[in-house]
Amino acid sequence: MPYKLKLDLDLDYFTSPHANVRKNGEVELGPEVGCDGATKKNYHVITHAHADHLGGLTTGRYQVATKPTLDLIGTIRGELKNPMSLDYGIPQEFDGGRLFLYPASHILGASQVFVETKEGSYAFTGDFKLKGTPVLHPDELVIEATYGRPEEVREYVNVDVLLLDLVEQGISKSPVDVYASQGKLQEVLSIFSSLPKWVKIIMDKKSYEVAKIYEKYGIKFPKYFTSSSKDAIDEVREKNPYVALWPLSVRRNRKNLSIIVTGWAGKPIVYLNANTIMVGLSDHADFNELLYYVDESKARWIITDGHRSRSAKVLAKELEKRLHVKATARP
Ligand SMILES: [Zn+2]
Repeated sequence: MPYKLKLDLDLDYFTSPHANVRKNGEVELGPEVGCDGATKKNYHVITHAHADHLGGLTTGRYQVATKPTLDLIGTIRGELKNPMSLDYGIPQEFDGGRLFLYPASHILGASQVFVETKEGSYAFTGDFKLKGTPVLHPDELVIEATYGRPEEVREYVNVDVLLLDLVEQGISKSPVDVYASQGKLQEVLSIFSSLPKWVKIIMDKKSYEVAKIYEKYGIKFPKYFTSSSKDAIDEVREKNPYVALWPLSVRRNRKNLSIIVTGWAGKPIVYLNANTIMVGLSDHADFNELLYYVDESKARWIITDGHRSRSAKVLAKELEKRLHVKATARP
């Protein structure tokens, strides 16, 4: 049974939102639930395993996330104190309310958070792209604002095909290095299923371990090797064509073709110089998709996440102007 909204609430209840984003990045959803930052609340929800959502992992009585997210955190950061895995759509009851996780199309295990209490309902989208993400209908919605500016609208092109073309052309001249963040590297690996079978795919150890967790949850990848394996070392020594996947922090090898896969390149492909190409492959909603989500959610209050995006204030203003909703950036 959903909890009914109390009829004897103060006027203040209707003039300011109760969900909040604190300076440390914690997203507060009612008295029991804090997400993605150090919290004093009982339930510390971790929406997904990207670094800007992994603050204060030792805090909270329980650290709540999907199983894949807990596995990824285990690989990236080590064991949590009191992990609680929660499946999508299954309620976790607490005194005065319930907590749910719902899918978010982003990296493996990513979730949105929905909290029902007697006073009302709250939700946090976490990071998401619209395709594959169900729209939630809370009273108060906290939404990410990564691409919250009106000019941040994506061209609809098939980036998978572009990327495969670049690699196939590049590999005829030199080895190809692809640089991206964790999660995106595995998305690229999955796209590389369409490369010819004779192209060896090499990955650094950490990205390799993360990819293994994806496979554990049923994601299909082509064959790939760690950069320290004999197969990979032979390939490099014999100057065979190969494509290597590296985190963004790895120093670029100027002799190889470098493809940097980033969320926003402005255009689908940007040539930085003869040997370096930037490709835009985003796992975030663009401005129009953020607008669509808010409009469909029918939420009474919108809070844009200003801890993780500089566009939060602009997005809140645009939401008020275009959709006539109450919106504010926090913190
Ligand atoms: Zn993320």
